[in-house]
Amino acid sequence: MSSDIESFTAHLQSSKRILALLGAGLSASSGLPTFRGAGGLWRTHDAISLATPEAFGRDPALVWQFYSYRRHMALKAKPNRAHLALAELAKKHPGFIALSQNVDGLSQRARHPADKLQLLHGSLFNVKCTSFYCSYHAENFTDPIVPALRIPLDESDPTTKEARHAVSQNHKEADIADAQVHLPSVQVADLPKCPECHEGLLRPGVVWFGESLPSKVLNAVDSFINDSTKIDLIFVIGTSASVYPAAGYVDEARAKGARVAVINADRADEPAGGLTDNDWFFEGDAAQIVPDILKTIIGEVEQPIGML
Ligand SMILES: [Zn+2]
Repeated sequence: MSSDIESFTAHLQSSKRILALLGAGLSASSGLPTFRGAGGLWRTHDAISLATPEAFGRDPALVWQFYSYRRHMALKAKPNRAHLALAELAKKHPGFIALSQNVDGLSQRARHPADKLQLLHGSLFNVKCTSFYCSYHAENFTDPIVPALRIPLDESDPTTKEARHAVSQNHKEADIADAQVHLPSVQVADLPKCPECHEGLLRPGVVWFGESLPSKVLNAVDSFINDSTKIDLIFVIGTSASVYPAAGYVDEARAKGARVAVINADRADEPAGGLTDNDWFFEGDAAQIVPDILKTIIGEVEQPIGML
């Protein structure tokens, strides 16, 4: 395992096919509360119990309020230099694709070409029809998506000390009740409707707990890895890649001769199979490191002012 930038750069420049696995750490410096670390009135426990098809079936208004909040927070965050650098690499390098576990929409907003970006867990900014007979799905960045889902001002910032303090004072059941007390009541009739069949409710296009990963995405990545031409380089950025199927991709690509470059804030967060002498590990903030180590291919990356 090495952090030698020269040997990495030499390998990068000769790499014809590159895969990047992207996780939450990529967006860490974009000012986005992580799903599990989210504070405010929507606490961790609530978040997990709300991210299920059962929760949506039981109370679609509450689940939509939660997702409207998450969309709002994600839109307040900005793509950082790592999102921009990867988008640039995707534009300049024909043999590069990224597989992201993030639903925050930041890669899309950094103009990462859609055909070079596979979304393993969907996106907060995708919507799809819940009707069994309808296959409508679309990208939607409107905030709020419908007027009834406007986020009340006092809930828009869960990072305030007051909000954290309020949460720490309560038990989880109390928090759920608390959240419901502060949330305006929303009628199902006012939730986003399918513009195609005019019958189904729309739902967030994310993969919920208990749902299977999108087979289109899995197939695309499988065929990229199992192409007759081997992968030269696999990036693991801001994720421990310890969960299926990401862990398997690292092993598979490595077995076919790919070299591995890990960029992570924490040395402990290495891929499940561990690192070898042949791998690179760059420790720190992805927003600093990624543009730096890609510089020889993409040039300097500047954060554009007033980016969407
Ligand atoms: Zn529909």
